[in-house]
Amino acid sequence: MQYLLTTDFLISALNAEGTDTVLDLCHKKEIKGWLLASSIPLLYAQLCKTRQETAVRPAIQRLLADLAVLPQTKNDFEKSLDTEDFSVSLAVSAVRAFKLDGLVTVKTEIYNNMNVQALNPVEVVELLRAGRKKTESVALLDIPTTYHEILNDVEHEMYEVIRSGHFILGPQVTALEEKIASYTQSKYAVGVSSGTDALLIALMAAGIGPGDEVITTPFTFYATVGSIARTGARPVFVDIDPVTYNMNPEHLASKITAKTRAIIPIHLYGQCADMDPILEIANKRGLVVIEDAAQAIGSAYKNRKAGAMGHYGCFSFFPTKNLGGFGDAGMVTTSSEECFEQLKILRVHGSKVKYYHSVVGGNFRLDTLQAATISAKLKYLELWTQKRRENAHRYSQLFESHDLMGFIGIPREMFHRHVYNQYVIRVKGKRDDLKKYLLGKKIATEIYYPLPLHLQECFVSLGYRRGDFPETEVAAGEALALPVYPELAPEQQEYVVHSIREFLK
Ligand SMILES: *Cc1c(COP(=O)(O)O)cnc(C)c1O
Repeated sequence: MQYLLTTDFLISALNAEGTDTVLDLCHKKEIKGWLLASSIPLLYAQLCKTRQETAVRPAIQRLLADLAVLPQTKNDFEKSLDTEDFSVSLAVSAVRAFKLDGLVTVKTEIYNNMNVQALNPVEVVELLRAGRKKTESVALLDIPTTYHEILNDVEHEMYEVIRSGHFILGPQVTALEEKIASYTQSKYAVGVSSGTDALLIALMAAGIGPGDEVITTPFTFYATVGSIARTGARPVFVDIDPVTYNMNPEHLASKITAKTRAIIPIHLYGQCADMDPILEIANKRGLVVIEDAAQAIGSAYKNRKAGAMGHYGCFSFFPTKNLGGFGDAGMVTTSSEECFEQLKILRVHGSKVKYYHSVVGGNFRLDTLQAATISAKLKYLELWTQKRRENAHRYSQLFESHDLMGFIGIPREMFHRHVYNQYVIRVKGKRDDLKKYLLGKKIATEIYYPLPLHLQECFVSLGYRRGDFPETEVAAGEALALPVYPELAPEQQEYVVHSIREFLK
């Protein structure tokens, strides 16, 4: 429950004797409380009328510790000045813009006919006691639900960049690179423009080009294979393991030719590929290993972190990934100083000294504003990963307790730890009908990915045919990703499982 605490409510709560129940609920995080930025100096001035300034400061500090501050722009003020009641309009438009559940006020009557839920403090407590409202829809991902936690930190970091006027690389990018290197147990990290560019620049740094072959699986997002093709090298596919959806190392050796230069294992959905046998083959044959860890930040394999096992690790901060920016961004990790230097040069048009170009690179820079956003969010990544794992376990328990295991397949954690960027179930035969049925129940699901890469139009010239990679083709017809984002509520998960049961039984 996310509520805006209006200035009138806050003044009355802070003026009353003892602790206020609603503020106490906000302190305990049972309600996510917001206050308008414009309320703060108003409150300060009001409280100073009745008490010492030295007593007002700690009261405001406590508010700021428990509530998130809802940012307002000049436009917001101008729009509200065009309405009948300036302060009512400020509050109502903020509730709408941030899709909050409503507002808390001691003057509910002035919000009549405003089309927002306006509650007095007693009604808030009653609503909380009555329990959560019935789940009626489940989105695949709900980024604004994280704003109460992150928005003020993100805003602060972004304003630091804006105030400095320094938008290209700089200390914020370096700081994020150091933090990601440390988080992924790599020596170095280079911020780049996207996960796709992370793959492309890693291939370029490895010197991959025309005449080379790079081995990967056809069950991945297009970017893995597209990046190989863009270097002029030839993508060579191996089939997946049906349990992990990742590269099956048993089929790897037979795909290696004299032209093979690199292997790109993908840690799909957040679980690492079986890296030991892959690394062993690569070492024996002198091949470069580039991990596509776009979906797997924080994932581990036998105590080693995703992105730190191969020569290069490629990460994406696309908004749907476990650590998402407010736009496109990516990162390459490496533990080789030589590779690190090469990546940094390739990122800025192949130049070490400005306007002198030693190799052909590109503009692959990580945007400084994105780096600021991602730095602010990184603090929460472990907590979010924990919640994703809890949600995954809850689904699995629900499917078991509803006796659905004979009808569907659930994800298995083969290597601790899976970070569940996606929780993917398998449904034989009627996956697409189930997807439609769930959509009718306002439950969003997604298919990652419906058409394997060897069957894509743009790769026809590779000469692959249907039937070449049977495990991949079966998975593409059966896989269905359910919502698993950290803020997903247990009731929503129950609603999803009940709805699946309704369809299947
Ligand atoms: C998201 C993703 C990418 C590409 O990342 P972008 O930041 O969207 O360019 C590459 N590989 C996989 C497996 C992905 O999921």
